[in-house]
Amino acid sequence: MSSKINLMDLTREELGEYFLNLGEKEYRATQIIKWMHQRGASDISKMTDLSKELRENLSKKCEIRAPEVIYERDSKDGTRKWVVSVGEGDLIEMVLIPEGKRATLCVSSQVGCAIDCSFCATGKQGFSRNLTLAEIIGQLWIAENSFGNSREKGERNITNVVMMGMGEPLHNFDPVVKAMELMLDDKAYGLSKRRVTLSTSGLVPQIDKLSKLSDVSLTISLHAPNDKLRNELVPVNKKYPIKDLLKSVKNYVDQCSDSRVTTFEYILIDRVNDSLELAGELADLLQDFPCKINLIPFNSFSESTYKRPSGNRVKRFQEFLKSKGYVVTIRSTRGDDIMAACGQLVGKVNDRTRRKERKKKKELIKTK
Ligand code: SAH
Ligand code: SF4
Repeated sequence: MSSKINLMDLTREELGEYFLNLGEKEYRATQIIKWMHQRGASDISKMTDLSKELRENLSKKCEIRAPEVIYERDSKDGTRKWVVSVGEGDLIEMVLIPEGKRATLCVSSQVGCAIDCSFCATGKQGFSRNLTLAEIIGQLWIAENSFGNSREKGERNITNVVMMGMGEPLHNFDPVVKAMELMLDDKAYGLSKRRVTLSTSGLVPQIDKLSKLSDVSLTISLHAPNDKLRNELVPVNKKYPIKDLLKSVKNYVDQCSDSRVTTFEYILIDRVNDSLELAGELADLLQDFPCKINLIPFNSFSESTYKRPSGNRVKRFQEFLKSKGYVVTIRSTRGDDIMAACGQLVGKVNDRTRRKERKKKKELIKTK
């Protein structure tokens, strides 16, 4: 491990403090942020608006290091997936989805996930650790740099970021909030707050905390209209039931400076949560909520027995909600051929929860 300070692990404010401590002017932080995040530089010696002496001093003490790309793979549909090493055998994945003039990067926040939703490949891997700021913002840095030398001129290619890769972003609160701050920072990635989306399984206290710090777009992974079914699909619901979750989301939206429509994600699993009765319950549940519903037909992976519903069943669910006045989209599956679609990101997780062992034990007891 390098003993140098990784400047990618610092926010603009933290860099400012670092420079003040060095006896330098605070605005050096902005210069470094621009080199690092706007122009994609990693070589301190080439930062020509810093004095030679400062460059030499910084090069001795600091480095700019994004996580290491192990390999990248392109899908037939233009989606690109990167597998990235974050040390000690842990691998994470990130995905770039080009759509016309838009290019959306799906960013991971943890190695694995501790929530363990019943339908999610990431969750089934267990949980190793939270990613650092450098490992989160480093994903955007890597993806932007893949567009080649346009970055040296300060051009930006990625238009949207969704925190929908591996992990529950609100379980890794501080680094995720700091990374989103850099995404929005004009001197860094300059993305609009409506184009940076945090997706969460519904951690109520953290949503409340976020509402005081940020107003990025919020997407809620709802997946069921009642607590009984949601407890089964999204286990964290036992701690934060739907009523509390909706209250907290309403509070978040109310604190945003502009008007917001919340997106609710609803994964559709054949014969589990895709009946018209449940569509009716969902319509009733959200009737007073300015929202959009995004249906995600279940993407399969080898460890799951769930199935994707037929196109007809998906359409039927959508039409029903539309007839109740909702805006309902169906998320198209992208990158399926390279296992880059929603819920298929697995990386390599050194599970520290011993979840698999516990499950095996339980099964053994059941069969005895
Ligand atoms: N942990 C956060 C963000 C990452 S999951 C969350 O749950 O919101 C990103 C999205 O992928 C979520 O909406 C999740 O429900 C969806 N997803 C997970 N597994 C899936 C699968 N097998 N098929 C389709 N979508 C899935
Ligand atoms: Fe974690 Fe999200 Fe997967 Fe649930 S859906 S296990 S919260 S990554």
